[in-house]
Amino acid sequence: MQDGFQKTLKVARLYSFNDIRIEEIPVPQPGPGDALIKTRACGICSGDVMPWYIEKKAPLVLGHEPSGEIIAVGKEVRSFRKGDRVFTHHHAPCLSCRYCNRGDFVQCSTWKSSRIIPGGVSEYILIQAINLENDTFVLPESLGFEDGTLVEPTACAVKGLRRAHIKQGDTVLVIGLGVMGMINLLLARAYGAGRVIGADMVKFRLDKALEFGADNVIDVASRDLREELQRITAGDMAELVIVGPNSADAMRQGLSCVRPGGQALMFTPAKPGERLTLDPNWLYFNDINIITSYSCGPDDTREACRLIEKGIVSAGKLVTHRFPVEDTGEAFRLTAKAENSLKSLIVFS
Ligand SMILES: [Zn+2]
Ligand SMILES: [Zn+2]
Repeated sequence: MQDGFQKTLKVARLYSFNDIRIEEIPVPQPGPGDALIKTRACGICSGDVMPWYIEKKAPLVLGHEPSGEIIAVGKEVRSFRKGDRVFTHHHAPCLSCRYCNRGDFVQCSTWKSSRIIPGGVSEYILIQAINLENDTFVLPESLGFEDGTLVEPTACAVKGLRRAHIKQGDTVLVIGLGVMGMINLLLARAYGAGRVIGADMVKFRLDKALEFGADNVIDVASRDLREELQRITAGDMAELVIVGPNSADAMRQGLSCVRPGGQALMFTPAKPGERLTLDPNWLYFNDINIITSYSCGPDDTREACRLIEKGIVSAGKLVTHRFPVEDTGEAFRLTAKAENSLKSLIVFS
């Protein structure tokens, strides 16, 4: 790297839920197959504000939804060059194991162990060779860096809806209208849902869902979810229910809204130790499927990029707040509060 190049970088490191510190660490040096990017923006993920989930990983540099510009590549790198504007996924699969061959990328041991260094909310990020080769790509001209941060979250919704085999004309109920609920709603519409209904308890989010094309919204602060869905659909309920909130109770409620023959997509884990008890015969005789969907792989990130290119998902719609790296703690708290916000980004100049 040339002389005079910045030797240290700022990161936001989480020690516990209420302790996020801005630290300066040395800029990592790319090896022969790696690349170094100057981060331009990084999303704060709603999954990262589940205290039990994030604290078990602490201390860690926050963020896994970055986009940026390549400023250096190792001598063996052929597919990327300095100046490329890229999306990079923090986990990349090997593409050759039995899981990968079936498209179950997130179960691949390479996917699980791969990572970006030191993390997303960092002025510079080292993209290791496996991530660079197997899930990094140049952003289309028309997409900005902020749109680029939406590739990974959108890809998670792509995967969920693919696993749920959403059908033309389906009535889809989306429970939880944070940014992931909104992306699910926008994608369900794009994939041909006949009717899309959103449920949440925050007025800002209910209004946004209507703005984004929901046919109906249910305010669960004042209404019973199941009864209201029954009323809206004249008893038909929903062929696909997407459950966002991280609790077994939300899953149970979601299941109670599924029409016979339909499915509940568990988009988020519950809390550790929770149990989901069900009447198996009710599932059986109603032909109800429970589908889970964890994270996403390289086919999903590419499909997500196409959807963002079409404008179905965009930063213009979903990004409500932007913060400099120094204010990452505030961005994190705002995301955790889950009220009058959707996506919060850390932006780097
Ligand atoms: Zn995420
Ligand atoms: Zn693999």
